[in-house]
Formats: sequence, C-alpha cells, structure tokens
Amino acid sequence: MQDLPITQQPIAIASPLPRKSRQARVVWRNNVVTVGGDAPVRVQSMTNTDTVDAVETAIQVRQLAQAGSEMVRITVNTPEAAAAVPYIREQLDRMGEYVPLVGDFHYNGHRLLTEYPACAEALSKYRINPGNVGKGDKKDKQFGQMIEAAARYDKAVRIGVNWGSLDQELMARLMDENSRRAQPWDTRQVMFEALISSAVESARLAESMGLNGDNIILSCKVSGVQDLISVYRALAQRCDYALHLGLTEAGMGTKGTVASAAALSVLLQEGIGDTIRVSLTPQPGEARTQEVVVASEILQALGLRIFVPSVTACPGCGRTTSTTFQELAKQIDDYLRGQMPLWRMKYPGVEAMKVAVMGCIVNGPGESKHANIGISLPGTGEAPAAPVYIDGEKALTLRGERIAEEFQALVENYVARTYGATAAAPA
Ligand code: SF4
Repeated sequence: MQDLPITQQPIAIASPLPRKSRQARVVWRNNVVTVGGDAPVRVQSMTNTDTVDAVETAIQVRQLAQAGSEMVRITVNTPEAAAAVPYIREQLDRMGEYVPLVGDFHYNGHRLLTEYPACAEALSKYRINPGNVGKGDKKDKQFGQMIEAAARYDKAVRIGVNWGSLDQELMARLMDENSRRAQPWDTRQVMFEALISSAVESARLAESMGLNGDNIILSCKVSGVQDLISVYRALAQRCDYALHLGLTEAGMGTKGTVASAAALSVLLQEGIGDTIRVSLTPQPGEARTQEVVVASEILQALGLRIFVPSVTACPGCGRTTSTTFQELAKQIDDYLRGQMPLWRMKYPGVEAMKVAVMGCIVNGPGESKHANIGISLPGTGEAPAAPVYIDGEKALTLRGERIAEEFQALVENYVARTYGATAAAPA
C-alpha cells in the first residue's frame, strides 16, 4: 500500500475573524458595557414579566444578570409600564445590581419617552422598531421624538428591524421598483433588501437628527437560519454600526437552541455580531435564564468568551449501565453554574477552569489529565474505584457511596486554593 503524502504546511488553526464595527456604550452608573469594536461579544436577554409589576420585574432582571446577561431588555408598552421603569431601576440599584436596562418600544414609544422623562433617564438604551413607529407623515416625526430623547439623555439606541413587523410602505416601494427590473429579484431577496434598507436608512436619519452614530446598534431579525445568515452578511457589508444578532422566534427547547447556535455561530465565526440574544420560548417550568445560558454557551463554545468553568463529560455507552456518572456530571455542572455569581467576584479566573467527569477507564484518565480536576468513574465490571486527577496528576481514588459529595468538596478546595486571594500568582 502506498503511503499517503504528508503535507509540509501546518494545518491552519480556526478562529473567529475580527469584527470591524464601531463601538457603542451602554451605561448605568459605573457599569459601562461597550458593544462593538474590540469589546467582547455581549450577552443580552429580555424579561417576560409584566413591567408594571416593578418588584417581580426587578427580581427577574437580577436573575438574568446573575446568569450572565450584560444588558436586560424590558417591555415598555403602556403609561403604567413607563411609570414603573424608574422604580425597577431603583430596586436594582438598591440590590447593587447595575446591569443596564433596555426599553423595548413599539407604536407609542415617542409619547412614553416624552411624557415619562424619569423612564427615559432610567433606561440605558432604547430599542426602536422602524416598522412600528407610525405611518405616513407621522413616521419621521415620531421617530424623531424618540431620537431626540436618546440624544438628550445620551442613551444608546438599537434600531431593531424584524421581518414580522417590517415597514410595509418601504416593502411596497421596493416591490414596486422590483417589478420594473428587467430581471426581477426573488420576493425573499426584496424582503431582505427591505429589512436592511429600513435599518440602515433609519440609522442615517437618526444621525442626521443629532444622535451620535457610535451609539447606534442595528439588528435585522428573521426566523430562518439561512435567511439570517444572508441578511447579516449583507448588513455587515453595508454599514459599520455595531450589530445585535439573534434569530427571532427561535422556538422551544432543543429546536430553538440548535437553530440559534447554528445561525449565530456561522456569523460570529465570520466576525459578524457584537451582541447576541437567544429568543427561546421557555418550556413550561423552565427558568427564563435558560436563554442566557444558551447565549453564553454559544460564545464559550466558539472560544469568544469564557463565562463558567466547563465540564467535559462523555456521553456514556454500554460500559456505563448505571446512571451514576450522568448524575454526577449534572450535579457538578449545576454546582459550578450556581457558584458563579459568588465565585466571579471571589475567585478571578475561575471561569477558565476545566472539570472532567468521565464514565470509565477507556477515555476517563486521559480526559481527566487534560482537565484541572477530573474524575473517572468505574464502568460496569470495573473495580469500584474512581481515580481523581488534579492538574494532570493522579491525586487520590474515591470509593463508596459518597463519591459525588467528596468530589464536589475536592472541586471546592481546588477553586479556593487555585483562584483565591492567597493563591500564588501565576508565573
Ligand atoms: S469514556 Fe468509557 S463510558 Fe464514556 S463513552 Fe467512552 S467508553 Fe463509554
């Protein structure tokens, strides 16, 4: 048999392309969240509480922030909701939670931002949907009132176009122009053009009305994976505003998670997207924070951000007929995530830790050695012993009924020793 030729070229190491957008600042007190430019790709989320219920909304905002959301959007749809916004902000400030709040406005935002100045001030960013600011003559005037409020209070603005509420007058005009083309475009292409034109033209209009262009963030959301990729590739070529990325109405559970990950990963790898939101429909009983978990995991999987220590766990197979290792992997994963709000402050750098929980000796010791701390549980028919590796060396073997608790205690000790204030500074 002939040997395969060995290339003399090293294999290129994949990494996301650099982003080229301008940088916006979303600020509340001393918490400045930069979006775009060389800032990390930001995670954001949205509440699903009634904004009028200031206490419940503040509690959910805090939960989302503690899960890792760097900005949280709230619905501002009625005078009562606008009146509640300063109280929500106050509650958060009292809890020491300075996550910036984003107000989501449709139809009446011009009135609410004008008539409720305390709301306009308490928000750090306004989301304006050009498809929902008014029709005909009123459109530019009402859009202008919102932009004026943003300029007056020095707030960032997301001009957020959505194919479900696309500016119908613009779409009709583009369809009309298309019908006069020698070779008309596909209707979907006209719709993409309408989405992008709506966002970019509105941004230029906002700048002409006095808003600082650096403080404009754009989004053009659609619900199909390939459509989102098409639209954002074109949008990124047509402007240098920071881009908010998200697959709208992604859906529930696995479907919503996979579709969002597929669409966002392709674009982020191409250097497109400065802040992301995963629009998951919560399953009954599921925490709203799940959308933050998914968004963070997408960025962490791509190597763009590190939020939480990672748990490497094997899928299990015929060598693991008990559920012990699945339970341990879940327990450790939940434990690490649950500790992060505290650990983030107490143990800087802990988010880069790697923990391995493996099902048997086939890959268990190997993976455990690559992790900071790893355990290899006994597979079916193996001796009832679980070797633990710390920093690549076999440290001890756990036995008996309390392996899970004992391993968790070892992880806790490792974290305190390695990332605590008294830990030796890295060489
Ligand atoms: S490590 Fe062992 S239990 Fe896990 S998948 Fe591989 S062979 Fe199966």
